[in-house]
Amino acid sequence: MRLLLVEDDLMIGEVVLETLRSEGFAVDWVKDGAMADTALRAQIYDLVVLDLGLPKKDGLDVLRSMRARKQRMPVLIATARDAVEQRIAGLDAGADDYVVKPYDIDELLARIRAQLRRASGRAEPVYEYGNVTINPATKEVTVDGAPVILSAREWAVLEPLLARPGLILSRAQLEEKLFGWKDDVSSNAVEVYIHGLRRKLGSKLIQNVRGVGYLVPKV
Ligand code: CA
Repeated sequence: MRLLLVEDDLMIGEVVLETLRSEGFAVDWVKDGAMADTALRAQIYDLVVLDLGLPKKDGLDVLRSMRARKQRMPVLIATARDAVEQRIAGLDAGADDYVVKPYDIDELLARIRAQLRRASGRAEPVYEYGNVTINPATKEVTVDGAPVILSAREWAVLEPLLARPGLILSRAQLEEKLFGWKDDVSSNAVEVYIHGLRRKLGSKLIQNVRGVGYLVPKV
């Protein structure tokens, strides 16, 4: 899953960036509203975490512009505790949810997961296929009832596939979910992680559609 973090506070930004990446998200971080606009025009994101008080272009204006462009991905706004009017304006301008600063990072993660789940049309937090169960929220995976540990990058490949069972994602699309702007992409990275996932989860869960991409079956 690829996220855009819009935050001008360097300390908050660094903590959130680090945490989201360790959870397996690909994250681009921009620090003002104009850069947010540029990023949103250049790239398709699965979710945006948007601070409202921003230099160059106000967060509310960034939000209104993206909704005017018919960009429908979930947007979580971050506002100060006493900024009730800002929160109301944000929700009315098309935000899906909000966090109040200073926010708890685990709460932010839970709200992100909830929005991504809803965006995928999936109310159920657990995916089950054959002898495999996967809970993206708790990162618990079992095969035949026995726990299996996946790396952050394996999660990064698996989660977009799980979000839309039955939909084929190309290698390029998975690469985009896997890396932020500044990371190096080795040309066979996706295959390496898919191989690791198949070794851990069995060969049936992630299916290779030759020359097209990968999918996980609908359940
Ligand atoms: Ca700010």
